Amino acid sequence: MRPIDPKSIRRIMVRSTNWVGDAVMTTPAMADLRDAFPDAEIVVVANPLVAQLFTFHPCCDRVLIYEKKGAHKGVAGLWRFSRQLRRERFDLAVLMQNAIEAAIMAFAAGIPRRAGYRTDARGPLLTHGVKIGPEQKRLHHTEYYRHMLRHICQGEGGGRLLLACSEDEKRWAQTTLGDGSWVAINPGAAYGSAKRWLPERFASVGDSLAEEYGLQVVLTGGPGEREIGRDIETAMRVPALNLIGKTSVRQLMAVLAGCRLMITNDSGPMHVAAAFDVPIVAVFGPTDHTTTSPWSRNCRIVRKPTDCAPCLLRQCPTDHRCMRAIMPEDVLSAARRLLGDTA
Ligand code: SF4
Repeated sequence: MRPIDPKSIRRIMVRSTNWVGDAVMTTPAMADLRDAFPDAEIVVVANPLVAQLFTFHPCCDRVLIYEKKGAHKGVAGLWRFSRQLRRERFDLAVLMQNAIEAAIMAFAAGIPRRAGYRTDARGPLLTHGVKIGPEQKRLHHTEYYRHMLRHICQGEGGGRLLLACSEDEKRWAQTTLGDGSWVAINPGAAYGSAKRWLPERFASVGDSLAEEYGLQVVLTGGPGEREIGRDIETAMRVPALNLIGKTSVRQLMAVLAGCRLMITNDSGPMHVAAAFDVPIVAVFGPTDHTTTSPWSRNCRIVRKPTDCAPCLLRQCPTDHRCMRAIMPEDVLSAARRLLGDTA
């Protein structure tokens, strides 16, 4: 497949992925795209959560929100949204999302060049379809998205995760956190309970880090994780600032960017913190650390090899041994190494 001539492209639609973590892992590919088409307008189509990542981003000029409810619900909604896209007169669609729906959207929007992986039986709808084999499935997600891009352009964006906060957002985080050195504890995982380490063990790690290093603890996460946050707050000896369910994605970005350390499950906020080069201790159980670990040198993965892992299930059908086998001391010793490295 020949690279697309940059001179022929004035406007690009990028259909983003639907999970925050995956979308963060597309940012190196977005940087490649920006480098390959420096004069084109890049417009990201995303759900309301993911859209926030790109509302202030060097590789995105504009965001269009696509939420599959209200006017955009069902097949009729998809058709309506595609008609709206048609008016934008895009020259190229880059489909980070692998679903057939993304290809139908680009096709129905009349976008003449449509690039993406040949997944979900959507090959015939793509003009620049990239074959996916076992090799691509083994790639870390950041490289997986970049691999697709290399079939259509020759950009070189540097290969690093990329997110940005505005000065106002940084000031807001500074005011919220105040003075001191912070460790973020992120005990949820939107995907499902199988990815979640035990709340009382997070609490124990938080207490130890506060007592050993004088770190202040901030709990982070989404609205569906409030109960876990309350359990951790109750179990902790030292007071924690509980922001679970109280921040927008952009506020969460600014808070994480201001932390000295993060202790987390495999989750969207983990990838956000990696984009700001925050040192991370990530607890992995049912997911594959070779494909979705934080794309950062500044991290430690804590996991216990288990026969059934990686199962990639949302809920554990057995005794959750992949997570139960990980003890607070395992996480603490990883944190101590990182704090030693960055002291
Ligand atoms: S099935 Fe195994 S890998 Fe999957 S969540 Fe349960 S214990 Fe973990």
